[in-house]
Amino acid sequence: MAPPLYPEYPPELSSNEQQYLLSNLKDWSIAHGLAVRPAPSFVSQQQDPSGVLATTAPVTLFPSPFPRTCFEEGLAIQKAYNELYSAIARDEQWLQSIVEELIGIDDFVAKLWQTHLAVKREGYVQDLSLGLFRSDYMVHSDPLNSRTPLVLKQVEFNTIASSFGGLSSQVSTLHNYLLAIDAYPSSASTIINADALRQSKSASLLAEGLAAAHIAYGASQSGRPLCVLFVVQEPERNIFDQRHLEYALHAASGVRSFRLPFHRTLKDTQLDSNRTLIYIPPNSPSSAYEVTTVYFRAGYSPDDYPREEEWTARLRLERSRAIKCPSILTHLAGCKKIQQVLATPHSPHLERFLPDEGVASRVLATFAPIYPLDQSDAGLEAKKLATDPNSAIRYVLKPQREGGGNNIYRQSIPTFLEALPETHWPAYILMEMIEPPPLRNVILRNGEVQKGGVIGELGVYGVCLWRNGSSKGDVGEILQNREAGYLLRTKGDKSEEGGVAAGFGAVDSCLLV
Ligand code: ADP
Ligand code: MG
Ligand code: MG
Repeated sequence: MAPPLYPEYPPELSSNEQQYLLSNLKDWSIAHGLAVRPAPSFVSQQQDPSGVLATTAPVTLFPSPFPRTCFEEGLAIQKAYNELYSAIARDEQWLQSIVEELIGIDDFVAKLWQTHLAVKREGYVQDLSLGLFRSDYMVHSDPLNSRTPLVLKQVEFNTIASSFGGLSSQVSTLHNYLLAIDAYPSSASTIINADALRQSKSASLLAEGLAAAHIAYGASQSGRPLCVLFVVQEPERNIFDQRHLEYALHAASGVRSFRLPFHRTLKDTQLDSNRTLIYIPPNSPSSAYEVTTVYFRAGYSPDDYPREEEWTARLRLERSRAIKCPSILTHLAGCKKIQQVLATPHSPHLERFLPDEGVASRVLATFAPIYPLDQSDAGLEAKKLATDPNSAIRYVLKPQREGGGNNIYRQSIPTFLEALPETHWPAYILMEMIEPPPLRNVILRNGEVQKGGVIGELGVYGVCLWRNGSSKGDVGEILQNREAGYLLRTKGDKSEEGGVAAGFGAVDSCLLV
């Protein structure tokens, strides 16, 4: 195993020091909305029947050391990743060739594709698309050779509902505050100091992305006031993360936004005859708004579509004139299958979308080995690896799903595949596990302090606004392309999953080393 990145990290605290740090951390978190709604297992509905309680979001007590070169590379290539995924979303034929392999075996992907086709038959009325992306990475250390440099490897690329941009800004400010009030022992100042801490501006930068789409939409078609619509799940425990974006959007740009629970879409929206999307607030039905931008924080999981009505709702939103964040093709571009196809060695795909060779090679360097489970040569080889318990322990098996909790890890892969008809295997991809160097930190979750080995996952946000190109020969163009801050999620090293909302991880900030 590689040596720890920082053997004496985090610094030991006396019980008085820990109490001082914790009391400041807890109060700062609530005072600044670094918070979540409590899990029912933590505060029952009986204890809080009117849902007024919030609790501190799971956070690390200390920022986590993160290799500076890896951090800087992740941020530097985000614009290339934005360009890549915007280009994929604009290339319907290429997307179709990949999605087609999934349609017969993945109902959710099939439904999304059919929804796109339904809108296409009628003709899209909105040429603009917005992406609020997040590219996730881990630092990889070669377990056999600890002297090889640490490299940044991509876990996945999120094109829909990329979360924690709101809380991430807050946690980096919190760690900075704890440093400023001497909550970290002075003996650790060579490691924890203001120069090494990295502030994430994700909340304001993502809100700027929404504002850019809102402005690009242009004048009201209906004469009604304009708004942005956050399409959300209900209930939502991670609501303050979303609220931070909403508040930043209003404070910086004066843009009005509303939260629409996805299941209420058919009740609370209408399409005008020219497919302008109208939102009718249930609390004030006489004051209707025209929607410039639909921001999906729901709709990425089959669980969001319990009835056929939800598919009708998605179709209504997609047919509308509002700019979608993301469009359905952009949503599909986020399939793990796309990531696998891009990562295929010597494939022509990357250069198709990233013509600049230098840019393409930096993106390529972040790909970890990913294999299909189909009848191709690589697929047949991967099937051998996945079904052999000795080799499967180095892999993770992923379906085309988002939101955490869907993957199959290591020794569980062979038995899982055994129970699945082989015709369905191509719905999954097989990915090599990224192995970060050992690191320790302390997490506060549900009032409990947990100390031990941790694994960090860096997310880099990107904002991209583009024109799809509406006529033959018009391939569209990128109007805005920005890196938009970062997220560090840290989980216990015994947990395979890292989702903060799913209950496995904590929000953290980077201490560059
Ligand atoms: P989702 O879209 O559901 O978030 P991910 O691909 O991000 O799916 O996988 C969920 C989690 O599983 C990640 O946050 C990470 O902790 C872990 N994981 C996924 N792929 C890898 C990998 N190749 N190596 C190590 N851990 C991984
Ligand atoms: Mg994801
Ligand atoms: Mg993920």
